[in-house]
Amino acid sequence: MSDQPAPAPAAARHASTVDDFRANLAAVRARIEATCQRAGRDPATVRLLPVSKTVDEARMRLAWEAGCREFGENKVQEAAHKAEVMADLPGVRWSVIGHLQTNKAKLVARFADEFQALDSLRVAEALDRRLQIEGRSLDVLVQVNSSGEESKFGLAPEEVPAFVRGLPAFQSLRVRGLMTLALFSADADRVRPCFVRMRDLQERLRQEAPAGLSFDDLSMGMSGDFELAIEEGATVVRVGQAIFGARALPDSHYWPSTG
Ligand SMILES: *Cc1c(COP(=O)(O)O)cnc(C)c1O
Repeated sequence: MSDQPAPAPAAARHASTVDDFRANLAAVRARIEATCQRAGRDPATVRLLPVSKTVDEARMRLAWEAGCREFGENKVQEAAHKAEVMADLPGVRWSVIGHLQTNKAKLVARFADEFQALDSLRVAEALDRRLQIEGRSLDVLVQVNSSGEESKFGLAPEEVPAFVRGLPAFQSLRVRGLMTLALFSADADRVRPCFVRMRDLQERLRQEAPAGLSFDDLSMGMSGDFELAIEEGATVVRVGQAIFGARALPDSHYWPSTG
């Protein structure tokens, strides 16, 4: 990733009031709608998942007041802590969107409604076991490395069909689809093929995956590239900085770096 130009800073102004959040959310929704219109898609088929990593509790409460009813978090401990201190907020859905180690499966099984970064059978097994103990189930998306970069988590597209054949064994996991992080680049011609690869894979899985698994969800697109992703079939866009404002921490804190 280090050899690529940084994508345009798609961040909104730092939101610190309910009105700021209303304005930022409205702006993102308007962009989603305009893109859908252009692409001949129904905007109701695109879910906006606000990504609140590094955002503190006070600002998340403002975002909730402005209408956010789900939050995506990259790190499990941060997510679990927030879910606990904000348990009083009605109707919030928590989505874990970052890589998980098996020793943290226990935590995810307790509070998360969705896990978007499934990339190994060991993690699937650990989650299933803990979910059974908790008497819960979990929506999961399989993370795919659509850019081929070594620094990205996720399965190679060609590994996914065999991988999903192992998933019906885990009855507490409701497989809903695929997730990816595209190449980080301001060059649409290099980013778009990642999304096209995902849509092709989704199509293939719909035909040959085991019964009981769904591949309707395609989680792709972030602040810098969600419009491209929608054009290519995204049904979930994970948007942080265009709602909350720029993050102070560098993204290398959240994603593995090429080092
Ligand atoms: C941080 C993050 C996002 C959102 O990125 P923004 O640039 O803030 O929109 C999306 N997906 C994952 C997996 C992330 O970690």
